[in-house]
Amino acid sequence: MLKFVSTPQRMPDKRAAAARRGDWDEIYREFSAERAAEQASRCSQCGVPFCQVHCPLGNNIPDWLKLTAEGRLEEAYEVAASTNTFPEICGRICPQDRLCEGNCVIEKGFESVTIGAVEKYITDTAWERGWITPPTPLRELPHSVGIIGAGPAGMAAAEQLRRKGYAVHIYDRYDRAGGLMIYGIPNFKLEKPVVLRRWEQYRAAGITFHLNCAVGEDVSLQELRARHDAVLIATGVYKARDIGGPGAGLAGIVPALDYLTASNRKGLGDAVPAFDDGRLNAAGKRVIVIGGGDTAMDCVRTAVRQGAVSVQCLYRRDRANMPGSMREVKHAEEEGVEFVWLSAPEAFVGDRHVAGVRAVRMHLGLPDATGRQQVEPITGSSFTLEADLVIKALGFDPEDLPRMFNAPELALTRWGTLKIDHRTMMTSLPGVFAAGDIVRGASLVVWAIRDGRDAATEIHRYVQATASRPLAVAAE
Ligand code: FAD
Ligand code: SF4
Ligand code: SF4
Repeated sequence: MLKFVSTPQRMPDKRAAAARRGDWDEIYREFSAERAAEQASRCSQCGVPFCQVHCPLGNNIPDWLKLTAEGRLEEAYEVAASTNTFPEICGRICPQDRLCEGNCVIEKGFESVTIGAVEKYITDTAWERGWITPPTPLRELPHSVGIIGAGPAGMAAAEQLRRKGYAVHIYDRYDRAGGLMIYGIPNFKLEKPVVLRRWEQYRAAGITFHLNCAVGEDVSLQELRARHDAVLIATGVYKARDIGGPGAGLAGIVPALDYLTASNRKGLGDAVPAFDDGRLNAAGKRVIVIGGGDTAMDCVRTAVRQGAVSVQCLYRRDRANMPGSMREVKHAEEEGVEFVWLSAPEAFVGDRHVAGVRAVRMHLGLPDATGRQQVEPITGSSFTLEADLVIKALGFDPEDLPRMFNAPELALTRWGTLKIDHRTMMTSLPGVFAAGDIVRGASLVVWAIRDGRDAATEIHRYVQATASRPLAVAAE
């Protein structure tokens, strides 16, 4: 260990941008065993590991790095999996520059340990060697839990509860499990078989998936409460923030998630009429994406791969103040995306179909109460960019769940997210818990996993305390 002084940081090899533009494969290659061990050995085994403190799952990073450096990969996997339900997914898509690696104490002058890439390597190896098995319980309990939403929060909770012996039923309005990991995040960041093989294992462990089942339409929350000893709501946030102004209703202006879902479905082999007829396809088009978050980055890079003639990203702040990961911006620039910083749309031009975006230059003013610099338009600075397809990636808000679920007593926060007691993770309805984006607002997969695991612990505590037959007796 402690090799950071003599061994430079090396990420897994990144494929050349020209090759990446032409396919949908992930952009990093896998570490070799030697490279993984070498990079893991750079860790200085901190007594107080800031990497771990800043990992939402509190992963025991120094331990699995040491085990990897020693070639003890099965043990490394056991340690990694003890706190993380999907280490191979977090290793691929966590914004490590803002979390574990961004807080690695050897960063200054020496570059951080490549924590995410090692985590991915360990877990991909575990899959290859058959060390990952379905979470089948040792004994069955006579209780069941209903989970609404098969995204990372719902799946993480399901895995933990199934291991304890609960009959677990997941209800999802989509036809596949995975939530945004399957239909939001593009294949070049997270290859879909990586998600699908987890789903397969959960089915093998006896978790029941009720797909194409929208709670609030096909089954009511009240029915689920009657059916199960506890219910977890993990429905994510899906109401796209919109943009108004002249021309906002023109054809060719589409929401980001519609666009990304169509692309992901196409990649999975589904029939997607709105893609085939060109409405949600960037091929041969001049594309403008509005927004500066990770969703916008996914849209610009998807458009490049679909064969857009040009791809521009319009963002009202500058590079230093954008919410998206810097790594993603760099990848996008390498792939040919042009960023138009400090610019905001003021109108869409065109007859029936969009032909361009009229934008105005912005300047960063004084910070507001939150410390974030305010943006102000510069008078007389308007300019027009030509476009055949405009993608709106302005973020997401929660849907109105009390209305959707016909449950007016379901309390909300002032942001419209579900209000929970943060010690018990229970909503205002007894026995109904909530986790993931529907509680936090649009966040990250790693936080959804954390919430799902915590919710499983609290649900177990609740059922044990309230079930008519105590679990200890029932399990005998
Ligand atoms: P979701 O993943 O949204 O899953 C919710 C599930 O609930 C869905 O399957 C949905 O169909 C289902 N559902 C909703 N309503 C109902 C209902 N009424 N009945 C039945 N089922 C219902 N995070 C990262 O960490 N790294 C990234 O690189 C990253 N990239 C992203 C890119 C995009 C384009 C987007 C949109 C998000 C990205 N995120 C990323 C964020 C991450 O995907 C989310 O934070 C995470 O998926 C939230 O998990 P969740 O389980 O709470 O919700
Ligand atoms: Fe880093 Fe994410 Fe892994 Fe935690 S889960 S160690 S933040 S990559
Ligand atoms: Fe190792 Fe960096 Fe974590 Fe310290 S902060 S334990 S050096 S990975």
